[in-house]
Amino acid sequence: MDTNSINRYASAIREAIVAHEADIECLDREIGDGDHYINMKRGCEAIAGLANELNGLDASDALNKIGMKLLSTIGGASGPLFASFFMAMGKSLKTSEAISINHLAAAFDAGVQAIMQRGKAQTGEKTMLDVLVPVAQTFKHMAEQGHTRPEIAAALKKTASEGLESTRNMLATKGRAAGLGERAIGHLDAGAKSCQVMIHAVCDLVL
Ligand code: ADP
Ligand code: MG
Ligand code: MG
Repeated sequence: MDTNSINRYASAIREAIVAHEADIECLDREIGDGDHYINMKRGCEAIAGLANELNGLDASDALNKIGMKLLSTIGGASGPLFASFFMAMGKSLKTSEAISINHLAAAFDAGVQAIMQRGKAQTGEKTMLDVLVPVAQTFKHMAEQGHTRPEIAAALKKTASEGLESTRNMLATKGRAAGLGERAIGHLDAGAKSCQVMIHAVCDLVL
């Protein structure tokens, strides 16, 4: 993974987030405060604006820079969480060796662990973690078993969609929806939706 591919992933993510504006906006309006799409779009634009600065950096430094940028541009709960993800992923990719698929899977997992620590949350609380945690597990497991990249990408898309759907009937115990009790039941979580959209966008590039 180099900065060219990071920039390519970032622009695919940005296009996908914009294409799902209505869904993402609506979900956060139903059980949040309605700004999740705006926050995501602002983050995507900030990353797009970094493209030149990232040139020449290794993957580790580029991801760390992305994380720091997100910390200062996205407001809300999701900003510091995504920032922690990219900074931890960057840290995990600090190496002089070529980055293997196993290393990428471990780095993704480190990013997800950082979100869990930062937000003091786990799966089952109706958040982005209900997509990210199972995706990280599937990714590590399939990479260890030596599956091909297209096989892994297809499995991660499926896992992300199932994780998103799993949030529908959960009570929220973290974030703004936590005060809603039973009223949150029947609605998908907005952050889980944007993670599903981003994971699909990245996986579609390797399929
Ligand atoms: P805010 O809730 O501050 O308006 P956003 O709307 O951008 O911020 O993001 C809301 C999303 O953040 C939620 O849908 C949920 O997925 C995620 N989220 C909120 N709190 C946590 C947490 N403690 N851990 C993990 N994810 C969280
Ligand atoms: Mg919100
Ligand atoms: Mg908000």
